[in-house]
Amino acid sequence: MTPYFVGAHVSAAGGVHNAPLNAARIGATAFALFTKNQRRWAAKPLDADTVARFRDNCQKHGFSAQQILPHDSYLINLGHPEPEARAKSQAAFLDEMQRCQQLGLCYLNLHPGSHLRKISEAQCIELIADSINQALRQTEGVTAVLENTAGQGSNLGYSFEQLAQIIAQVEDRSRVGVCLDTCHLYAAGYALNTAAECAAVFAEFERIVGFDYLCGMHLNDSKAALGTRLDRHHSLGQGEIGWPLFRYLMQDARFRGVPLVLETIDDTLWPEEIRTLQQFAAGQD
Ligand SMILES: [Zn+2]
Ligand SMILES: [Zn+2]
Repeated sequence: MTPYFVGAHVSAAGGVHNAPLNAARIGATAFALFTKNQRRWAAKPLDADTVARFRDNCQKHGFSAQQILPHDSYLINLGHPEPEARAKSQAAFLDEMQRCQQLGLCYLNLHPGSHLRKISEAQCIELIADSINQALRQTEGVTAVLENTAGQGSNLGYSFEQLAQIIAQVEDRSRVGVCLDTCHLYAAGYALNTAAECAAVFAEFERIVGFDYLCGMHLNDSKAALGTRLDRHHSLGQGEIGWPLFRYLMQDARFRGVPLVLETIDDTLWPEEIRTLQQFAAGQD
């Protein structure tokens, strides 16, 4: 059976080739990384040596592209209402897609975009889809993976309907997918405290978006209460969501085969969190 791939968003300090080493060190079988400084617009291109070392380290530690979920820069807003600012974001996103392609990766995780209260949600969704279409036309082999948001500020992508609306406007639907962040789901109002609630939420996901589009998950508990629209991650089992959701995910085959990535706040707990999740999968708990 397809295994569960579990890991964390690890540091790529000193170069992207260090990320797979950092992931292996914590017992991960999946990882996320930034392929450039996520708080800056500019980045120097990846050099051939770094690319070779990254690929080599991934191979040595058993990470295939399907186990790696790179995350794009926080600065990018593909739905920016102003054309100039949007063009800057589109260029930065294309650069990130190209970096992923160079690294032999198959996903790029992005936050859909924000309307900044200057245009309607529908207009913003159209701009986001258009920006994705432009990047897909200029790249190969990399899927744009939309992350659901907590709905903080004017961030879109906080409902399954919005994710489906973006996907519907993407021309090449074989290269668009979804990453569900559990903290963001909860903050956006999706109740996930019991197995029955989890079953209902993921049935709704299947109906509105579809598991065919699921390319990864961010596994986070939430400091903020249900429906508060606040993006506040917590360590697993220590927040408002609690363990039942994470047990549920690790015992439902629909979550196998995609990177399940911790973005929890205490990285010293990652090895233990990964071990606990894998134990759920093995049915030991
Ligand atoms: Zn996330
Ligand atoms: Zn978050």
